[in-house]
Amino acid sequence: MTTKRPPTALEKMGLNSPMALALHLPSRYEDETELFTIEEALGLGRFHSIQTQGVVIRNQVMFRPRRQLLVTIEDDTASLQLRFLNFYPSQQKQMAVGAHVRVRGEVREGYQGPEMVHPIVRAVTPDAPLPASLTPVYPASAGISQTIIRKAVLQALRDASLKESLAEFLPTKLMTEILPSNDWPPLQDAIAYLHQPPADANTQSLLERTHPAWRRVQFEELLAQQISLKRAHAIRRERRAPSFAKDQSVSKVSKKTTSIEDGLLKVLPFKLTGAQARVWAEIGADLSNTFPMNRLLQGDVGSGKTVIAALAAARAMDHGYQAAIMAPTEILAEQHYLKMQEWFGPLGIKIAWLSGSLKVKEKRLAQDIIESGEAQLIIGTHALIQDKVSFAKLGLAVIDEQHRFGVRQRLEIQQRVGSELFYCHQLMMSATPIPRTLAMTYYADLDVSVIDELPPGRKPIATKVVKAARRDEVISGLHDWLAKGLQAYWVCPLIEESEVLQLQTAVESFEQLTQALPNFKVGLVHGRLRSEEKAAVMAAFKANEIQLLVATTVIEVGVDVPNAALMVIEHAERFGYAQIHQLRGRVGRGSADSVCILMYAEPLSLAAKERLQTLRETSDGFVIAERDLSLRGPGELLGAKQSGDAMLRFVDLQRDAWLIELAQMAAERLLAEHGELVERHLERWLGSRTEFLKA
Ligand code: ADP
Ligand code: MG
Repeated sequence: MTTKRPPTALEKMGLNSPMALALHLPSRYEDETELFTIEEALGLGRFHSIQTQGVVIRNQVMFRPRRQLLVTIEDDTASLQLRFLNFYPSQQKQMAVGAHVRVRGEVREGYQGPEMVHPIVRAVTPDAPLPASLTPVYPASAGISQTIIRKAVLQALRDASLKESLAEFLPTKLMTEILPSNDWPPLQDAIAYLHQPPADANTQSLLERTHPAWRRVQFEELLAQQISLKRAHAIRRERRAPSFAKDQSVSKVSKKTTSIEDGLLKVLPFKLTGAQARVWAEIGADLSNTFPMNRLLQGDVGSGKTVIAALAAARAMDHGYQAAIMAPTEILAEQHYLKMQEWFGPLGIKIAWLSGSLKVKEKRLAQDIIESGEAQLIIGTHALIQDKVSFAKLGLAVIDEQHRFGVRQRLEIQQRVGSELFYCHQLMMSATPIPRTLAMTYYADLDVSVIDELPPGRKPIATKVVKAARRDEVISGLHDWLAKGLQAYWVCPLIEESEVLQLQTAVESFEQLTQALPNFKVGLVHGRLRSEEKAAVMAAFKANEIQLLVATTVIEVGVDVPNAALMVIEHAERFGYAQIHQLRGRVGRGSADSVCILMYAEPLSLAAKERLQTLRETSDGFVIAERDLSLRGPGELLGAKQSGDAMLRFVDLQRDAWLIELAQMAAERLLAEHGELVERHLERWLGSRTEFLKA
């Protein structure tokens, strides 16, 4: 048996090969290439770092006002004080009186004149040569010094294997035809340059990562990602999925004269909007393919995505397959369950309901009928369905409010039919639009359909922003509202730190409102209730037995009670853009004029003020999503899970958007004309790392 040595600090950072080290690029640089006299430093060194040197003429530890080391150095022109608030005995010794030191730092005005606080100090002879290149500063985890990383990188750059792995192999013709200019260096030169830029390099463009050397690296990285995505796309197309074409659906499975799909269209109390009909046609076409659908249905809150999910499910069921509809929360899943019962019940469809709070026996029963194939439609939360259920014949999985899960969490449901492996079709639904740059990168293998029209008769929601100090006024307005026979929501603040605290404030508001509105029935729903309890409250609200529903954010998505057209959100300043937009989407569904009152407590931060203002001014989901994205960056939209290995390391999707298209073109040409180079390129960039996202 070989004993394994523990990994070194570098290895722990993933820097375990010459290539990994070569691609560990500096985050910034320090300029040690110039040396100034102390007199010059005193003039030039304000607000930026400067290098000078001299002989130590004083070295003294002071104890007032706190322990610190004061050192003075001097050259022919002037003297300069250095101040260290934390220091080691070794530093004290390094700067003993008479020693010659080279120091670098900013000069600032201290109480006793100009000084450098915590400069970088090196003991060198006065004529020690200056480096010819800028000094790289590398991303590092705690406890590992720049010196160690620099040494390792320099050594790696000299490694013979690197010549091979960084060799230029992208065809010159392809590069010159695609690249905008010819000042991009070959990869190996670009990488060497970024590690050791010459003294006269354009530091601004290096820092901003717009330098041609950076461009070259970013292009290569994007190219690898695009290739990887295109391959995922090709792989999906080679997979088998059952084909659900419209015309065969009746004859094939049942002897009934109408298909479930047509039956559903008859049962629906409304006609599809133009936009719904269009996206249904797109999805229908996907379902008739023999490879699995991977489509995102995007449509603002209230645009009517659920019925499209139902139609897709109907199509699968018409072919004798099962369909599953998944939602992120129990409440939302339950809404779907009720809706599907309403629509499919009359058609005699067997629906299985999977909820975390089912009794063991009920759960087993549900699982039994799913496994036997008796259940045609399965509804539940995402986690529940994904983890534990085995299906008789699943043909379609619908994942609602997909953005909540992040891209990675996708289903890989496959089943063997004879010797063949079948995948199920997937439909994701989300109210959050995907910005173009993300659509071209992480989501590139996702087809997108958009419902860009709300069902007719929707009233715009009037949003008001009100100080919490006017709570009494709000409550009396609420009284008048309920007196008209209308219903309302009262949403309690999100308290991220504590669920208990959140519950407590919800209970307090509930009690206060119950007292203040004695003529009306007030209900309370929150995340701690068992799901039957939640269902009972929601059902009572839907039946107008409850007029005012006090709720925590559990009602964020999907809840649908048209007679409830007023929503009060307490501490609206604590919510994000998307949350308020989703919440607000619960009202404005009926014939009454809808109102959303955003109550805020002072003081209001600048960001919160801007957020509430934007939300008051627009209810356009696209505008709100754009604001949200510029605030949070794409990482969060992708879901925290993606942030690590899969993110592009050197590309910033906002800054480098224009490069994506170039990389896309290059990837297409490379795959078509130089298939043999593709593996090499992927290997270079991915090495042992996992694949890029194949959304
Ligand atoms: P979301 O896209 O937010 O999931 P839903 O599917 O819950 O929206 O639909 C919102 C409401 O609009 C529901 O009450 C639904 O029954 C209704 N609806 C959907 N499509 C139409 C339509 N074409 N005409 C009228 N009402 C519709
Ligand atoms: Mg919905």
